[in-house]
Amino acid sequence: MARGTNLEQTREFNRRVVLDVLRRTPYASRTEIAQRTRLSLSAVSSLVDTLVRDGWVAPLGRRATARGQPPIDFALADRGAFGVGVALDRDHAAATLVDLSGRVLGERHTTLDDPSTAEATACVADLAHALLQELPPTDRRRVTGLGVGVPGIVDGLGRVLRMVRLPAWEGHDLVEAFGRATGLATVVTNDAIAAAVGESSYGAARAADTFFYVLFALGLGSSLVMQGHPYRGLWGVTGRLGHIPVDSSGPICAACGGRGCLSLYASVEALADRLRARGAVPDGSLARQLAAIATRFAAGEPVVDAWIDDAARALARGLVVLENLLDPDAFVFDGRMPREVLSALVRRTEERYLAERRTPTGERRLRLLVGERGRNAVAFGAATVPLYTATAADLALLP
Ligand SMILES: [Zn+2]
Repeated sequence: MARGTNLEQTREFNRRVVLDVLRRTPYASRTEIAQRTRLSLSAVSSLVDTLVRDGWVAPLGRRATARGQPPIDFALADRGAFGVGVALDRDHAAATLVDLSGRVLGERHTTLDDPSTAEATACVADLAHALLQELPPTDRRRVTGLGVGVPGIVDGLGRVLRMVRLPAWEGHDLVEAFGRATGLATVVTNDAIAAAVGESSYGAARAADTFFYVLFALGLGSSLVMQGHPYRGLWGVTGRLGHIPVDSSGPICAACGGRGCLSLYASVEALADRLRARGAVPDGSLARQLAAIATRFAAGEPVVDAWIDDAARALARGLVVLENLLDPDAFVFDGRMPREVLSALVRRTEERYLAERRTPTGERRLRLLVGERGRNAVAFGAATVPLYTATAADLALLP
């Protein structure tokens, strides 16, 4: 639906347009910002002056150029704002404190065991409190909020609609619970959406306008960033990649009822199950199993290699659908899968894809990237969600 703006909203929107450019580039001059935003140079200069005065943007000094008057570059100010992020799953919580320039100022990890919402709330409050202690009081006033990434479907207000791994959470209002426990403005989103916001703002996909994000959490999550903004979809979860059918004679998926879903082949759980069945990893926590998997892979364990082959075949089938539907600038893969295994899986997926078909332009290369955050992908992304909410040029986010 089209939405108009009033005069005061127009100035706020244009302020965000400038911040949005700087969020997605390391630095830019006033002239470059004007060119990219199609605002007049005088409007950009006025907006940049205000942003510098308010501490959101910092001048970097004059660029070294060969001739003429070199332009002054501007960037998001390191300590202009801060975001706290928490990733929650059935077995694990991770938390990150990030500043406006994308620097990680603190990280925490803790184990969970099928937590109730009350236990999760206490955990979120403890982690957020511990990270905030790392900021001097003057900086604490510039914390824009708390982002929490969860492995399920959350409506726009933060109520859990569906959470297969933590079904007792369904129907709970997590925004209210986490916000009250921490005193922070809180956004709760699907974990793959949170992780993609982090990659879009500060990561491997910063230059990509539209990309598809594939998250190896316990299962296989995904999300879509379109023209710099996360696409929420009707249910707040886009591209349930893990439930694309890739094998019509495969087993029934307990989560969705379909047959031969991709997550049954290409996910952290699928890998751990395969190795456990062969006695190649210990019982116990998934974190221990992941560490064992990384060791096995480094030692050239053929069971891991055979799994990568099968998973790559399944993943390539899923990517065919997405490539043909969306034609994104890139696919980004990240999450809790050990990095070496993930890199090998991504390489083999590309080989598998290209062995059977060409890309739309006939190029012999897919645009597959491995993200920069690994097991901190969701916590980092969640911390960038309140920063995104405060700076993104999206009419829906205007106050
Ligand atoms: Zn399924």
